[in-house]
Amino acid sequence: MTRAERIQQVGYDYASRAKIRTDACNLCGSDDQVVLTHRDRYGFPAQTVACARCGLAAMNPRMAAREYAAFYAQWYRPLVSAYHGRTIDAVSVQREQQAYAEEMETLAGPYLEPRRGQSFLDVGGSTGVIAIHFAKRFGVDPTVIDPAPDEIQEADKFGLKTITGLMEEWDPGDRRYDVVGMFQTIDHLLDVKATLEKIRSLLREDGLFLVDIVDFRAACLKNASVELATKIDHPYSLTEFAMESYLARTGFDVLRRSYSADHHLVAYVCKPAAPRPDHLPERSEVRDFFRELRQVQNARPAAGGSA
Ligand SMILES: [Zn+2]
Repeated sequence: MTRAERIQQVGYDYASRAKIRTDACNLCGSDDQVVLTHRDRYGFPAQTVACARCGLAAMNPRMAAREYAAFYAQWYRPLVSAYHGRTIDAVSVQREQQAYAEEMETLAGPYLEPRRGQSFLDVGGSTGVIAIHFAKRFGVDPTVIDPAPDEIQEADKFGLKTITGLMEEWDPGDRRYDVVGMFQTIDHLLDVKATLEKIRSLLREDGLFLVDIVDFRAACLKNASVELATKIDHPYSLTEFAMESYLARTGFDVLRRSYSADHHLVAYVCKPAAPRPDHLPERSEVRDFFRELRQVQNARPAAGGSA
């Protein structure tokens, strides 16, 4: 069976799902949007736009929050499994997460070593693999929040403190954390700005924030396609310059950054700082980004490709 046939067999009807169109860029507020693509990697009619002012790429329109809740509960893993041609579920992802936990340990180790006994909130913490690894290795006290009930169920088996829900909707009351991590999650959020602001308000002033992005630029170049680098499960397609602008605006200073072993992810170690709400990426950076996307889109296809 071909990839397209496997995806069709999943039977997800994206076109009929309720969607929301957004006029203002989530990063800078501009309404000047450039349409980049008309389909995503699964072949769904999902449009990705980029802000002409700051270069933030996002799906627009995107599905409504309740549609995403249904998507993650029922369709997401089967669809990803169909795409890759192998079973990916709440159990199999734990192997990959363990490898990534060890990579994060190397990056964040020097900053986590002195934090024994401190609280650690893992946002989008999935089955809790990273939370447990950090607890064992650094003695931090973890809590996992994730919207997927079957992943939280796995985390519960390890005896972790868990919260089932969306970070955007969770009411933390007056709880504060020493360390917040958000791994392989930010691209799935429905509102990056609001979530980063919430994390900032949850973090103690001497706290630490660990976060990563799938680098959209790297994904476009690696796939030699912009379409293949977009997917409906990523409402946002972040780049280094957009992420660093988000961090500056919402009140974080970057202490350290790292490219992952597979060159796809960029991870950041951050500390709280005064927000710089007017921060924008360099204009030259945004211009280069658009030029690069056009080069990828217009590159002569390899032998066998069509004109
Ligand atoms: Zn913008």
